[in-house]
Amino acid sequence: MFDKNDFATNQPKLIDRFNRFPQKLRLSITDKCNMHCVYCMPSGKISLYPKNEILSYEEIQRLATIFVGLGVEKIRLTGGEPLVRPEIEKLISGLSKIAGLKSLGMTTNGLLFSQKAAQLKAAGLQSINISLDTLKPDRFKSITRVDGFSQVLSSLQTAREEGFEVKINTVIIRGQNDDELVDFAQFASNTGYPVRFIEFMPLDGSHIWDLSLVVTKEEMLRRLYQNGIEVLPLNNRLSDPARLYSFKGRGGSIGFIPSMSEPFCGACDRVRLTSDGKFLTCLFEKPSNDIKQLLRMGKSDKVIADYLIDCYRKKPLGLVGLLEHKPIRSGMNLMNTIGG
Ligand code: SAM
Ligand code: SF4
Repeated sequence: MFDKNDFATNQPKLIDRFNRFPQKLRLSITDKCNMHCVYCMPSGKISLYPKNEILSYEEIQRLATIFVGLGVEKIRLTGGEPLVRPEIEKLISGLSKIAGLKSLGMTTNGLLFSQKAAQLKAAGLQSINISLDTLKPDRFKSITRVDGFSQVLSSLQTAREEGFEVKINTVIIRGQNDDELVDFAQFASNTGYPVRFIEFMPLDGSHIWDLSLVVTKEEMLRRLYQNGIEVLPLNNRLSDPARLYSFKGRGGSIGFIPSMSEPFCGACDRVRLTSDGKFLTCLFEKPSNDIKQLLRMGKSDKVIADYLIDCYRKKPLGLVGLLEHKPIRSGMNLMNTIGG
């Protein structure tokens, strides 16, 4: 394991042409998943990366250490479903020891979380985002194509009992689950789990995305208000994509991730590494920066760091810039390979 961040001293950090510098790294550790959400996974036959194309835990550990040396402070594991990778606690244990790393979290669909929670906690995982798009068991099956509603609910409970910081991710899609906005708000208030409503993004392998299916943050707020749920904005950091609100007159909080209606590209502070070793400086760019190749050619940490710096310098402005050049369409990238 590469616990020591020995090349970090005097190492230049990642910074782009717009003076953005990433503090958060999303590590997608697999493109496999034990669910098949309609807004994420490709429909039909899914072609997954061959096993030898997937980064090993040693490779992930080494790259994560390099990223921390370049200024990253927070790492979130994602997928596909991160918990389908065997012995993930070994990876977590190694990552949690990287000098300079301040936070280690995971985004999971919650199917396998309950049974692994204690091991993950002991290994050093601190926070968990659990995805849940409906509070109706039948609908859960039609969205995820898996009968796992009760497992996900018990994962929420276990996460709290084990002392994780817990959040719920809910992708709102018109005609699919937008009739549950009020139920989710009440659930957030009654249980204290912060629910973050995510606007549907054109990163769907199933090619169902259409602008008409996006329910914007403003519309969600209006519909909550019309149903008697008043919220007050909390102090939001510009670089945090979630716009957070407390409930007026009751406990709990909710958030909105308005990726489509209010893109936060100008304050973007995250980068991504796909499970097959591609470095993504933006959710919407094509995965072409091949870090795995450098690793497997035996290049030094310094050479890899310099390559990452060079790629990051060219980071596109983001969705805002993209919209000026081409129309948004479904399937612009595949969420199950990027990890959100
Ligand atoms: N399997 C894990 C899970 O579902 O939480 C982690 C990977 S998943 C790709 C990460 C997050 O991306 C989830 O919260 C999921 O709901 C969200 N997501 C997937 N496809 C999306 C899309 N097309 N638009 C917006 N969010 C999406
Ligand atoms: Fe799997 Fe997560 Fe995508 Fe659903 S959102 S298919 S759980 S990777």
